[in-house]
Amino acid sequence: MHEISLVRNIFSTLESEFSKDELKTMTAIDMKIGLLSNVEPVLMQNAFDAVTTAEEKYQEVKLNVELVPIEIHCQPCNLNTTIESYKFACKSCGTPNNNVVKGTELLIHRVHFDSKEKMTTQGF
Ligand SMILES: [Zn+2]
Repeated sequence: MHEISLVRNIFSTLESEFSKDELKTMTAIDMKIGLLSNVEPVLMQNAFDAVTTAEEKYQEVKLNVELVPIEIHCQPCNLNTTIESYKFACKSCGTPNNNVVKGTELLIHRVHFDSKEKMTTQGF
């Protein structure tokens, strides 16, 4: 399953970025998942639960998913349009456009620890 290996990747990334002592106090991971990232948030959450249930040291860690909508940029209008129902057209001039500037994100946005919060932005 695609999502299971993603979750494992997330933890190995964090293990290389933070010390064992820090990871012991980790409480939550915030992720940004773009609607075009090919990752299904529900499956991601299920995979995360499966991995953290199996790994004793991560049982207390929660996953928070923030969905990132799709946005395109229209050069002539110099305007970003948020895409709804996959209609890729500029909201101002109506020109079809697939110049995606947002929505492909798949990254760790923030990691929460017991006492402090650490910012990190890690793509995959
Ligand atoms: Zn336009």
